[in-house]
Formats: sequence, C-alpha cells, structure tokens
Amino acid sequence: MIVIDAHEDLAWNALTFARDYRRSAIETRQIEAGTEIPLRNGQTLLGWPEWIRGRVALVFGSLFAAPSSWSEGPWDTLVYDEPEEAYRHYRANLDTYLRWIDESPDHFRIIRNVRELEHHWASWQDPGQESPVGLLLLMEGADGIREPAEVAQWFEWGVRILGPAWAGTRYAGGTKEPGPLSELGRQLLTHMEACGMILDLAHLSEDGAREALDRFEGAILASHTSPLARVPNAAFPERHVSDALIRLIAERDGVIGLLLGNRFLQDNWIPGMDRDLVGMADVVAAIDHVCQLLGSADHIAIGSDFDGGFGLDRIPKGFDSIADLQLIGEALRQHGYRDQDVSGIMGLNWYHLLHRSLPKD
Ligand SMILES: [Zn+2]
Repeated sequence: MIVIDAHEDLAWNALTFARDYRRSAIETRQIEAGTEIPLRNGQTLLGWPEWIRGRVALVFGSLFAAPSSWSEGPWDTLVYDEPEEAYRHYRANLDTYLRWIDESPDHFRIIRNVRELEHHWASWQDPGQESPVGLLLLMEGADGIREPAEVAQWFEWGVRILGPAWAGTRYAGGTKEPGPLSELGRQLLTHMEACGMILDLAHLSEDGAREALDRFEGAILASHTSPLARVPNAAFPERHVSDALIRLIAERDGVIGLLLGNRFLQDNWIPGMDRDLVGMADVVAAIDHVCQLLGSADHIAIGSDFDGGFGLDRIPKGFDSIADLQLIGEALRQHGYRDQDVSGIMGLNWYHLLHRSLPKD
C-alpha cells in the first residue's frame, strides 16, 4: 500500500540539528546519541531507508520558522522578530529542499503539478523498483511572506500549500494565541486563491478557520491535526478540529491529516508519561471517529508530524519509525475497513485532493 504523509518538518530539522535524512533513522540515532538533539526533539523517526521500507511515496515537507517569543533556547535558531528575518529563514528552508532535490535526485523529487504527480505515482506502483521520495512543499506559518501579494512568488518557487498560522502570525491567530484572521490575513487569502495555493487550516483557531472557509474558494486541507472529540481536555483545543469543523472541511472536499503524536490521540496523555499507554487502538479510534461522523472514509488521511517537536518517546506503542505507518493499514483492515477505504486513508485521499488542486503543468 502506497503512503502519503502530509506533514514532516524536514528542512527545519536539517537547519536546526544538521539532520541528514538521506541516512536511516537508526544511523541518525546512533550519531546523535549523547548529544543534546534527542533532548530537544526526541530520537528521530525519519530517514530515507525508512520511507522506502514504509512505501512512503510522497511527503509534504514543511517550511517553518517560529516567532522569537516562542524560542525554546539558544539552540532554536530559526526564530524571527521581523518579517524580513522570517523571510530569510523561510528562504533557507526552501533552499534546503531545492538543494536536496538537485544534489540527490535518486533520493528526492519535487512535485509541483499534476503531470509530475502522475509520473511520480506511476513510478511507485512496482514495489520492486526503487524510486525517489516525492516532496511537496508546504509553508507552515505565513510570516515569511513579507506582504500578501508575495505569495505568488512563493508559488512560483514551488510552494503549493500554505498555513497562515502556527502560533499567532501577522496574518492570523494560531495555536496558544487563538484569534481570528487579521486584515492582512484576509488579503493573503485573496492572493492565495488567485495563484492557486492550497489553504492549510491546521494551527488556525476555529473562528479563523471558519472565516477562511467563507472567504476562500480554493482547495483546502488540514495537514496535521486530530479530532477534538478524541482529546476534549486538550491544553490547546484550537490546535484540534471540532466535529463542526470536520463537517465543514468535508463539505469542501477537504482532507484531514491525522497527527500521530500521543498527545493528539489520547486525552490526558502528556509528555513524560509512558509512550506505550497510547497504541494502535487510539489511532484507529481517531480515524474511525471522522469516518463515522461523515459516513465516509474520504476525508481522513495521515499527517504524522514526525520529528515536529517530538520523537520516539511520544508516539504510540508499536511504532518505531515512519516505516511503521503501514501497520495502520493492517489495523484498519482488521477493524473491518474495506481495501478501497484503507488505500484512501493511507494515501489516495491526498492523491485525489492534489490531483484536482495542483496546476496541470
Ligand atoms: Zn505544526
């Protein structure tokens, strides 16, 4: 079964910790043993051999930097005070991906349009043939866009998905800083729609997401989140999707990527607790919640967020790396899901969304 994962902060890890994801996760763990990196971001879950082993054909690679008010210490280098500084960090993220694609074409390939998507998908159909991992660029937090009209330039450079918020940005309230869209955020949506940028609702708070859905007619998704109904006591409820918002996303043909960190899967689990308290049953329950709510399995898929501020000690029992995403498909089948629905959840739901939303050429 071919997998698509809708959220991995690859460039941020490369720039912050010099992680080289052409290596296996196992090798990176050995290299980082005894350093401060596992304390900052956990033991890595990602590496090229693991993507291949897990049949992960396509990853939405994020471009990310944080407002300096959220800096976690001197090691946290991709932080900004001013739009110009944010712009430079986001450009460094972009350049990182473009360099990988340029220097390691056997490892990575960029996906920007339907033609490239179809060719890439076809090259992955034969399990015996090794193909590069596809990268689709997703900008998380819009502060790197200095003024709304500049979004067209980022599209030109290959970015295809944009989430206006992380914590709050100049464009919208976000996680831990909930709030609506700003006037600048409304202008941004207009420019996004004009150039065909897909809108990522993850990290927007409910009021911002609702207003964005009203104002924006383009394609939408929520790359990495989880149903609030599964974690009703979450410390930051705005980081999750309510049942009402799940319905609105589905009405717009959107897809939700399930984040595979324990905190997003089981209520009252917090970092420091035994990771094994959360398991595959919680993953299946979150997916099943969305499917039962909608009467359809077409709107939930995977957005692991692996290495996005957490590692091995904060993911469910039985998962060791990205290669283990395949286990989700088996669990869904055992739960009674039809093959067609399983392949949708594992990758085809994202594929179909991209196929109808990316430019043709
Ligand atoms: Zn995020």
